[in-house]
Amino acid sequence: MSDDKQRFKKMSLDRDTLSALEAIDFEKPTEVQKKSIKPALKGNDMIVQARTGSGKTHSFLIPIFEDIEGDKGVEAIVLTPTRELAQQVEKEARNIGKHHDINTLAIYGGSSINRQIKQLPKTSFVAGTPGRVMDLMRRGNLKLDKLSFFVLDEADRMLDMGFLEDIQWIMSRTPKEKQIMLYSATMPYKIVKLANEYMNDPVELKLSEDDISAKGVSQHYVSVGRRNKLSALSSLLDNEPGRYLIFSNTRKYTQILADRLRNYGYKAHSLHGDMSQSARTKTMNKFKEGKIDILVSTDVASRGIDVDDITHVVNYDIPKYEKDYVHRIGRTGRLDKKGKAITFVSRDEMEFLERIEEFLESEITKLEIEEEGRVKHRVDYHHHADLFGMVAFEFSLNGGSMTRWDLEKKMKKYGIKPEEATIKDLKEDEGIVEVVESKAERIPRMDFFDSVKLLERDPREK
Ligand code: AMP
Repeated sequence: MSDDKQRFKKMSLDRDTLSALEAIDFEKPTEVQKKSIKPALKGNDMIVQARTGSGKTHSFLIPIFEDIEGDKGVEAIVLTPTRELAQQVEKEARNIGKHHDINTLAIYGGSSINRQIKQLPKTSFVAGTPGRVMDLMRRGNLKLDKLSFFVLDEADRMLDMGFLEDIQWIMSRTPKEKQIMLYSATMPYKIVKLANEYMNDPVELKLSEDDISAKGVSQHYVSVGRRNKLSALSSLLDNEPGRYLIFSNTRKYTQILADRLRNYGYKAHSLHGDMSQSARTKTMNKFKEGKIDILVSTDVASRGIDVDDITHVVNYDIPKYEKDYVHRIGRTGRLDKKGKAITFVSRDEMEFLERIEEFLESEITKLEIEEEGRVKHRVDYHHHADLFGMVAFEFSLNGGSMTRWDLEKKMKKYGIKPEEATIKDLKEDEGIVEVVESKAERIPRMDFFDSVKLLERDPREK
């Protein structure tokens, strides 16, 4: 196909749509837009597997604005898992809507319901979270009897967050004749079931595996225990400056981590669900505008983060679910940009890493932290203990050769019982000693050793 044919101009779109796209400098459709706009324009129900950053939003916005008329009530609704995503979708919709003279509105909790109520009568396009949408429907302010488009954005996330019943409740109060479009980064069985229940012979599109697993993102892991995560992070921040999005698994630690980073002089802020909506929006905007370059976030708060030049995504805590991993790393490498995703994995978390690799059907490569950053590395015996809780050291003796029995006797003086240590590969004045983790710090202090070296075992290579 010639380059020219791939342009939006060749897609027989409305002049208003084309001028809207021109105004935001979109020339060529992305992969998902190329594949989905045409069947969607024909009125098909759509089930599309596409990750965020692929241009999925416009793949439903364009067909919607080509069709809706305005001035007859709400004709299109997009349900999103989070407020941020609702805001984001509405913002992009507004850009197209203004060229069609169509009013759009974002509906989500934590912002003035009265303003939303006031705007609704002249609104044709709504993007919202299920809770507030239901609230406004119950109050009678949001009527969906004229609805032609029902979009579920990031459907897998919505189901994970327990929105299934809410979606069904809203869906059951819309006209039978409508076009449904479902977007999801992953397609677990429950999504397929939902689609089968409501959709009419949908066109199914699955982007290539590369798109799902974030083409353009190089993926790595760092083998590190809790004790040294901050040090590893500081090494990255100091040695590879960029725009960082860091994920922590809990709201509390998100805050603590951002505070600790600030103590070390990094311009870090946190984003989590305990913050007010206006504080969340303010932080997001600062990150977008480049006023802060380190954002520490939970999974939920990160939905809808639409910042194109995030260079690094760091999983400070490895996500418990493979899907969250896909969503997280999708925040970098957007469109054709390059990004790096780095996951911290402790010895007890290796199984999560393996599960993610199985899901992606690709290997995540190991990254060695070579240079220290401003937070110093500390010895972490726990991380280097084997499955039996034993830590190994290579040693050399300073007084010539010794028998195993002599060594055991000497170690006993340091409070290490024979059953707490194993001496291996004893040759002349060298060998290996394995000792219980709780007493490992005594080994480097023993005066009969000339040198000792911790064997930094990678839990994965055991
Ligand atoms: P999305 O996956 O919808 O969140 O889109 C990711 C980013 O790509 C957003 O910032 C969009 O504004 C941008 N984008 C989407 N489609 C195009 C396009 N065809 N050309 C240029 N940028 C685009």
